[in-house]
Amino acid sequence: MKMTLGAVAKSGTARANKTGSWRTIRRPLFLHVGCTACNLCSLSCPEGCISGSTKNMYCPDFDFCKGCGVCATVCPTHDIEMIPEEHGKDCVPGVAPLKAPYNDCEIKKMSSS
Ligand code: SF4
Ligand code: SF4
Repeated sequence: MKMTLGAVAKSGTARANKTGSWRTIRRPLFLHVGCTACNLCSLSCPEGCISGSTKNMYCPDFDFCKGCGVCATVCPTHDIEMIPEEHGKDCVPGVAPLKAPYNDCEIKKMSSS
């Protein structure tokens, strides 16, 4: 999509732009362990790309998730972690993914971003 500086995009165009391509450093890992289905992550996601309605069934659409980390920040049960993009995992509703072991270098890189 061609954009002119200062222009306002028509409503609905966000869906046409796969904002997941903006994600370079980190991505959310939905742990599916302590989710209470509070829906805060879904309501807070600026891309509106998290779907789910029952406990441990929430997942983002990685075509649109830009890795901002808002979902992990607002989750009251800390059931979402931001992980390095290179450890990318699919999100399967109801399935608790195994966590990758992170080394100090990766953790430092994430905390400085
Ligand atoms: S990191 Fe979370 S809040 Fe941010 S775009 Fe991705 S799913 Fe939405
Ligand atoms: S914010 Fe956390 S507890 Fe609430 S629905 Fe999302 S993953 Fe589940």
